Amino acid sequence: MDVSTSVQDIETTRRLPAFPSFREVLDNAHPGEALASKQFYALADGDFSTTFQDRLLDCRSRAWFIRHEETGHVRLASKQCRLRWCFHCSEARQQFITSAVLPWFSKVKMPRLLTVTLKHSQVPLDEQIDHLYDCFRKLRNRKVCKDAIRGGIWFFQVTYNQKTEEWHPHIHALLDAEFMLHAKLMSDWYSITGDSTIIHIRNVDNPEKTLSHNARYAARPSAILKIPKSLWPELFSAFNKRRICGTWKSARKISLRPSKPEDSEKWHDVGGFRTVIAMKENDDNAQAIFEAWTLGIPLDENINMNNVMDEVDKIVEESRPPPKWELEPFLDYVEFK
Ligand SMILES: [Zn+2]
Repeated sequence: MDVSTSVQDIETTRRLPAFPSFREVLDNAHPGEALASKQFYALADGDFSTTFQDRLLDCRSRAWFIRHEETGHVRLASKQCRLRWCFHCSEARQQFITSAVLPWFSKVKMPRLLTVTLKHSQVPLDEQIDHLYDCFRKLRNRKVCKDAIRGGIWFFQVTYNQKTEEWHPHIHALLDAEFMLHAKLMSDWYSITGDSTIIHIRNVDNPEKTLSHNARYAARPSAILKIPKSLWPELFSAFNKRRICGTWKSARKISLRPSKPEDSEKWHDVGGFRTVIAMKENDDNAQAIFEAWTLGIPLDENINMNNVMDEVDKIVEESRPPPKWELEPFLDYVEFK
């Protein structure tokens, strides 16, 4: 199967239709990454299936503006695929993880960052990850860590060195921890792994920045555009159903799974994404919804697109929100000008 990324493919993606779906707008803003996700899942599906590709294609193809009945705030809700290598889902997940972990990490007594890795080798990725996870669990149970660490959250990352043709798996952990002697950590890490002395620990000056950077790995453990396509199947199978982040001790209370907001019944549909975007230049209500969303101002409760929805629905095949929807965190992700 030819999965080369041609300039022509990207240019085609960049031409937006008159009634763009939310998905088309996002793809248009990140054409290279969006195309790579599609090609990645085409390889994962193989020649006789389109299961992953269908799920990916449906991601955010339908989205709706919703208004909170008390505050008047407008947000976007959409149907999302939650596939690990979907670029849009992983961007959303990074934002979710950052907002979920920040209340804990910004208040810890001593924010610190620990990074561990294995000695570089030609061992298959799957086995290297198993070994790294096992060693990291043992390290957390060593006296030096048990005594000093009050709590932590770990993230997995893998890069690939094209020159040496080796995978480089790492674990980064944000900690609330007292001072730990580096020499002691290093000798423990060496005795656990049998061959690796690569372990770093440092104080964190800006918890939000460090967290946001590391939360990216909880979303996608590797940037697929930087990995040769011939290795994507190995990457896919090594991470299939594998946890890539976790918490322990005082950070255990943090939920790393997004859930529907508690007040979800207070949010009401005011118009489909395509309808509002297509009509915002010519329709006062569409313009008001769009402005309320982009500027973060409350929307008057009588404003919605119900008067035109039925008509426009026929053109853009947009249906009302299904029972399962999720809030979009994407406000700073794409410019809608
Ligand atoms: Zn997705």
